[in-house]
This record gives sequence, structure tokens and C-alpha cells, in this order.
Amino acid sequence: MPQLSIQLAELLQHGNFLDLTLSHLDSLAPVNVTLNNGTAVSIWDTGVICFEPQQTNTISKDIVLSCGVHGNETAPIEICAELVKDLLTGQLQVKHRLLVLFGNPAAINAGTREVTENLNRLFSGHHSMGAGLINAERKRAKALEEYVSRFYNELRVTDSAPRNRYLYDLHTAIRGSRFEKFAVYPFLHGKPWQKEQFEFLQACDVTTVLLMQTPASTFSYYASNSHDADAFTIELGKVQPFGNNDMRRFAKARAALRQLVSEEEVSTVHFDEQQFQLYKVYRAINKQTQEFKLHFEDDVENVTNYHPGTLLATDGDIEYRVEQEGEALIFPNAKVAIGQRAMLMVVPATVSHNIA
Ligand SMILES: [Zn+2]
Repeated sequence: MPQLSIQLAELLQHGNFLDLTLSHLDSLAPVNVTLNNGTAVSIWDTGVICFEPQQTNTISKDIVLSCGVHGNETAPIEICAELVKDLLTGQLQVKHRLLVLFGNPAAINAGTREVTENLNRLFSGHHSMGAGLINAERKRAKALEEYVSRFYNELRVTDSAPRNRYLYDLHTAIRGSRFEKFAVYPFLHGKPWQKEQFEFLQACDVTTVLLMQTPASTFSYYASNSHDADAFTIELGKVQPFGNNDMRRFAKARAALRQLVSEEEVSTVHFDEQQFQLYKVYRAINKQTQEFKLHFEDDVENVTNYHPGTLLATDGDIEYRVEQEGEALIFPNAKVAIGQRAMLMVVPATVSHNIA
């Protein structure tokens, strides 16, 4: 074994990868080390750490867990930091390949959603469109795509069967929700939704799922569309400052994620659509002018619905009203840039016609 740096020895003793990341916001020199339990650990960059079990020929899953794509969404960062710590100190051991990503270290350090641009609108090449790689978030989006590609495509000679790919991008919402936790299922271009994935979401205490109908510039759509991964954006609750999260509210998600990486299968219950609240996008309302205004209380929760005809927003002369029974609003944000999505309207949906 090569001489370990003091920093690395410290990391292996205490498992404080998040601290190491936050003290190296721009980059971190790659390091490879094998733990006493045989797990191969490699640090690829700041906030990027990969774990591989000793026995690589029996691995069936390639799992990516990401957090901190929005820097102030602390609960997922705490959950992932604790998971990495327990893996580094040998209290937990991976059964599958695992890549953990702390998405935006500079924003995590600043305690803000972003530094200059919303990182979760920059994937599937959007980082290089328009003005190009002009800021740290755009560069990070490109780098994260490269790390995910490398992780999924890295095949060892001993590998026999192809492995299933997963990416769970963990967030907390800006506002409260009628359903505290919910997941966004990226657009599958007509491919069937996966029963097993709904079962995993339920194990995470997530039974509200928004089914997207169009491509997006999000991290989860990128993994789903470019790598054929089962990928989700998972909103675990409302944004709170570090240390203010009531971790009991995340107990199920935390336990399911730990089981996912350390055991062959996660214990789940059989899929029953009646146990879920499923929605699909009915329309997106984009901000067209500086006059855009929302006509409901600031603290309205995600997935709130109003009677048909209720005025939701105005944009200059344009009025947006509820068009049908059951239509609910989600992610309202009047402060987005002109041309960007200010709100999504969703309606109840089913997956029974196309599920595998
Ligand atoms: Zn977020």
C-alpha cells in the first residue's frame, strides 16, 4: 500500500468526506484505497466518491446517489454524508457498486440553492448550450455527466452479466407539500414504468409520484435517457438549515437507501397503485414578462388544488385559471428568469396501462 497522506488517514479514520469536500470546493486530487473489509474506495473529485465490493463478478447493481445539486437542501446531504462515513469507517459495507455525488460543493458551502445558475437545469448537454461553460455550475454539470458515464461504463474483465443502473437524486422542496415527500419520474419516451421502482419509492416513504411527459434538463432525466437508468428526483420534505432537520422524518428513506447499497435486495411490499398518488403534467406555465404574478398565498403547498375557474396567475394581459377538476399546482416560483417555467399544473394519472 502506498504511503497514505495525513488527510487520507484522517478521512479513513473519521469518514468525514463531506468536510474534505467543503474544504476543497473546486477540485480534489484522485485517490484510490482499499479498506480492511476489501471495499475499493476511489475519490474522483471533490464531492465524488466511488465504492466497489471486493467480489466484482456478483454485482448486479450500479447505484448513483446524489445530493446537494441544490446547495441549501441539507437533509439529503446529511443522509449521504452519514452513509459515506459509515462505509469509510467499515460500519456498513457495499454489496453493489456505488457512486455518491455531492452535487454543488460551492453552493453547499454558501448555504444557497445555487451560486449563479440552477444546476438542475443544465444536464443533457444544456451546460454547453447558449453562452456555453461560462460558470462553475455549468462546468460541474458537464463533469457530473462525465462521472456518471464513467461509472456506468466501467466494466471489469471479471464481469459476467450486465448490471442494472439506478440514480436517485435527492432533494428537499422550497415549499411544503400536501404530500410531504414526492418523486419525479422522468419522461420515458413510451417505455413502461417499473413496478419495482414504485415499490422502492414506497419503502422510502414516497407514495406521491409525478410522471413527466416531456424531456427535461434535470439530472434524473439525463441518467434515465442517456444511460437507461431507473432514475428519479426525490423530494424528501421542506428545506431546513443544516442541523435543523428532524431526521426522524427521513428514517424510512435513510433506512431504504442503506439497505439498497448494503444488501442484495430492499425489503418492499407488492405494488398496488391504490397506495399511490400519481400525477402527470397537464401544462407548464412559463413566465413571459416581468409582470408575472401568482394569485395565491406565498406559502401554498405543492400539489394544492383549487376549483375550476380559480385565477392562479397573471402575466401582463394573460390570465391563467384552473381548467379542470383535480388540477393541482406544483413548484410555483414567480422569481424565475423570463422564459423559464414558473409553475407546473398536474392532474391525477394512472400507470396501469404501461407498467412492467
Ligand atoms: Zn432541489
